[in-house]
Amino acid sequence: MFDAILFDLDDTLLINPVAESIPAYFELLSHYLEGRVDSPLLVAELLRGIKAMDANDGTGPTNEEAFDAVFYAGLGSTKEALGPVFERFYAEEYGKLRSYTRPLPGAVEIVEWTLTKGIPAVVATNPLYPLTAIQQRLEWAKLPVSEFRFARVTSYENSHATKAHPAYYEEIAAVLGCDPRRCLMVGDDWARDISPAVEAGLSVYWIEVPGDPPHPKDLPDPIPERQYLGQGSLRKLLQQLDGGKNG
Ligand SMILES: [Mg+2]
Repeated sequence: MFDAILFDLDDTLLINPVAESIPAYFELLSHYLEGRVDSPLLVAELLRGIKAMDANDGTGPTNEEAFDAVFYAGLGSTKEALGPVFERFYAEEYGKLRSYTRPLPGAVEIVEWTLTKGIPAVVATNPLYPLTAIQQRLEWAKLPVSEFRFARVTSYENSHATKAHPAYYEEIAAVLGCDPRRCLMVGDDWARDISPAVEAGLSVYWIEVPGDPPHPKDLPDPIPERQYLGQGSLRKLLQQLDGGKNG
């Protein structure tokens, strides 16, 4: 059995169609900051901040520090001035995005199974957001951190790389004190969840996306059989793990 199981969040533990929810997030935030920050500038600087985080490869600052270094100055402001406004936004407004999401069948069951087996469970969501946003999405997934003892929830405060880099997965394994080769990553995105995790040495399971073929060509080599547990749904994976086929 594995020493840790990592779960992506959006469209792995929570139905969250990003094509709708990300533009809605930008709109909600723009609206909240109306009168303080020009909306096109806000979106441009958010994208620049995300790019700065994506360039963070584990050798530098936290993702939050990488973001802060470009974002606030780009708006002609400072974190001291705008930080509290963002905190209020996440406390008061962010929850409105829940309507774009739905709990995903099988998510609670597989996390419960993992924890019952004494296996550390990690919420391995791309750490572009503050922890509060990720904790709220976990609530929407019926997996509140107050009830589910995750070993780690990655956020922009505690991570030094994004999923664009194998370093993201290496950092999780190091924090847990696990050998990456003894960890399993479960996710729906080949470029962010599967390819860099394989490169870091983890085993992987792909949450099949209807109409979206897997892209093994993105992987360094044909994916080593030892690292590929297969593809399908969380329920299918749970059956596979509980059947003891992956020892
Ligand atoms: Mg995902």
